Amino acid sequence: MTDQTVNYLIIVGPQGAGKGTQAAAVAPELSLEHVATGDLFRTILKSESELGDEVRKYYDQGALVPDELTIRVLFAHIERLQEEKPSLSGVLLDGFPRNAAQAASLDEALAERGESISAVVLIDVPRDELMKRLTGRLVCSSCGATFHREFNAPSKEGICDKCGGELFQRSDDTPEAVEKRLGIYYEQTEPILDHYREQGVLVTIDGNREIDTVAQDILLSLKERVSN
Ligand code: ADP
Ligand code: AMP
Repeated sequence: MTDQTVNYLIIVGPQGAGKGTQAAAVAPELSLEHVATGDLFRTILKSESELGDEVRKYYDQGALVPDELTIRVLFAHIERLQEEKPSLSGVLLDGFPRNAAQAASLDEALAERGESISAVVLIDVPRDELMKRLTGRLVCSSCGATFHREFNAPSKEGICDKCGGELFQRSDDTPEAVEKRLGIYYEQTEPILDHYREQGVLVTIDGNREIDTVAQDILLSLKERVSN
């Protein structure tokens, strides 16, 4: 652990709002590391380990992985990042926290480090748009970049524009798992936003526009909140 001040930001919104897409666009511009708990779990799933078998029980059904395991995986990753990059200036959390217990754990962990959350960006998209986005989503098996069959199609079918890797459909982007995941978002994740609204760190962005327009709007809102 270093004494360097680290900016902690959160990108939040329902599944399919565009968190991963936007984080990939804005994190480098703001010198932030994009840390997505879903990506951490997808890496664990690929490892075909006992931990992978445990995560799969929840992941494929669209259920939340237990809090204790999620928190352990996330903080181990952040510690590793800080060791590897002592000059790390900030972290953009995506997919965490997802319920009140995780929000409380994050507050506690940051308080121990003398840190706080600089901003929480809520990407707002109406629920009826989300199913179309998720069932058409394609993800690169190599670099994790996100595309859409119709709304953000790769130039060559099935191939990642960024690294040439193979694109696949996520095992939890089925209509059944999407319904379940959205239910969890509105029941457990949306209510924790009040906590950040009260702290004056919540910024709401209209995510129902072109990808580039949304990214410009996020950058404008965040630039003054990130100290480098
Ligand atoms: P999240 O990380 O919030 O679950 P993603 O970034 O993976 O969402 O985006 C979900 C799907 O919607 C992807 O297929 C992505 O290409 C597409 N998408 C993202 N932003 C937009 C947008 N503004 N308009 C249309 N489609 C979008
Ligand atoms: P995502 O990529 O954010 O849509 O997450 C995919 C899946 O990973 C979720 O449906 C959960 O099974 C698991 N997951 C990701 N983040 C969390 C979290 N903060 N808490 C519990 N489970 C999570």
